[in-house]
Amino acid sequence: GQAVRQGRALISFCDNDYLGLAHDPRMIAAAQAAATEGAGAGASRLVTGDHPLNHAIETKLAAMKGLPAARLFGSGYLANIGVIPCLVGPGDRILLDELAHACMHSGAKLSGAAIETFGHNDLVDLDEKLAATTSGQCLVLTETVFSMDGDLAPLDAMQALCERRGAWLMTDDAHGFGVVQQSNPAPVQMGTLSKAVGAYGGYVCGPQSFIDLLVSRARSFVYTTGLPPAVLGAIDQALEIIAAEPDRGGRAIAHAARFCQALGLPAPQSPIVPIIVGAETRALEWSAELEARGLLVTAIRPPTVPDGTARLRITFSAAHKDSDVDTLIAALKTCMAPA
Ligand SMILES: *Cc1c(COP(=O)(O)O)cnc(C)c1O
Repeated sequence: GQAVRQGRALISFCDNDYLGLAHDPRMIAAAQAAATEGAGAGASRLVTGDHPLNHAIETKLAAMKGLPAARLFGSGYLANIGVIPCLVGPGDRILLDELAHACMHSGAKLSGAAIETFGHNDLVDLDEKLAATTSGQCLVLTETVFSMDGDLAPLDAMQALCERRGAWLMTDDAHGFGVVQQSNPAPVQMGTLSKAVGAYGGYVCGPQSFIDLLVSRARSFVYTTGLPPAVLGAIDQALEIIAAEPDRGGRAIAHAARFCQALGLPAPQSPIVPIIVGAETRALEWSAELEARGLLVTAIRPPTVPDGTARLRITFSAAHKDSDVDTLIAALKTCMAPA
């Protein structure tokens, strides 16, 4: 909820700290306590960098996700580029939602599989492309909650299509974990610990045999240093808080819902609300107007989003107060009023 720009305190409505955990005193204390064991891990987890907290966190993540096993990675980006090439390779096929995150594309390219995109959340297009699979394995990749639009993928229907066509579904839950309650039947699910979890790192959950395989095959696991103890301490504390205080995600979404109602926007499916303004210059003007009123909402421009869809990507947090949301509503109404 808070940010500092050029020495001035602003209320942030553009970070991914949906549960308000990044600045929670319990998180900071847990990081400090773990840091007394060392500032860095010193080596790959396969050498000497395997702090016991790695295993405690993996056990908790698998339980929270309802999947058999989990593996931590240095970041969400490292998880995607390590995991995808362990699922498919040359001669196989990847079907990606056209709005899927850059690091899913990076992992797909590294795998050597043939890559195609399907229309955003378009089950008909996906099924046609799945039906055209001739030989080799097919992997379908999607986000659970789309990072720039805040909408949800139809995961139950996607998994049903994948089962019918013999394909695998893998999801990126970077913006869903701990925030959005959503059924997710995908057998392989990755995510990040740097957004709602408020710390840093990435993970993947899935079948035990697959998780075991990653220890020797995922290059971004084997050839990189383990996470520092302070980060592990914070992650472990966050998972405890998320389990004990499950209403935090709902608070963030309730702020988004009240905001959308006040501005006549469709009801949100997550704490992410895009206000698509089209022209880049206008997105920058509105962002500057909000900053003048003490609110931080950076403009998101192509190539992060498709051409002609420059936007303010507004994100809500459990740490926001109702009065913060009221200030934002009033400021945006001014921006939107015809000059
Ligand atoms: C942020 C993000 C990632 C990368 O996670 P990091 O831990 O920041 O590397 C992956 N996928 C999506 C959809 C993201 O938004």
